[in-house]
Amino acid sequence: MIDRLPDDGWRALDILEISVYQNAGLSKDIINAARRKGDKFGTEVQISSYPKFRHTFSLHKAQTTELVEDIWTACKMANVWGCHCVRGDHIFRCPQSIYVPQLTGGNMTDEGFAIASTPDVRDRLLAFLNGSGPLHSCANCVGSCGKQFNQTGLPRKSWKDDLQAPMEDIVDYALLARSKTEMQLIDDCRTPERKMRGLSATIARNFKKLL
Ligand code: SF4
Repeated sequence: MIDRLPDDGWRALDILEISVYQNAGLSKDIINAARRKGDKFGTEVQISSYPKFRHTFSLHKAQTTELVEDIWTACKMANVWGCHCVRGDHIFRCPQSIYVPQLTGGNMTDEGFAIASTPDVRDRLLAFLNGSGPLHSCANCVGSCGKQFNQTGLPRKSWKDDLQAPMEDIVDYALLARSKTEMQLIDDCRTPERKMRGLSATIARNFKKLL
């Protein structure tokens, strides 16, 4: 999609982050073209790779409401990082709540807020984004506290089988305990590309060779 982003999109963006997944085969040409566009339109282009993933969903609901409450309380996506997102004409508190209803027999918009041009939309949207939880989706999602594993590529046909593990088996309980009290935990799957600010491209290249 980056190579299809129109110039108006670049003009509107302060920062664009490209997530690089080893198995997705994103070419260096596309990344370099994005950097050039960023230079042209004043958009900072950040590159991050994800050598590790964390479990996210299970098709089987958590067995206890306590676990669901804990996962929600600890969840950085909805409560700290503000990973709210737009899909079609709906806003969601987290990307996961777009997908869980569809995986569990519901509809995509079940946990969404319908965007409509009404005088009270701002207040209703703030109430939606700041509402109490957990979401219904939290019963099938471990949020930011899934067990970590090395990134692998799975064929699309086996995606559903990968979601058969019970919720209780895919939680990183140590991280869950820490996440309930520590606000500043970072996403430790994300590995940002190291920057060499202030160096010319040639010096930076030579410096890189020495590392
Ligand atoms: S659905 Fe998952 S990501 Fe969304 S708030 Fe619940 S635990 Fe967090």
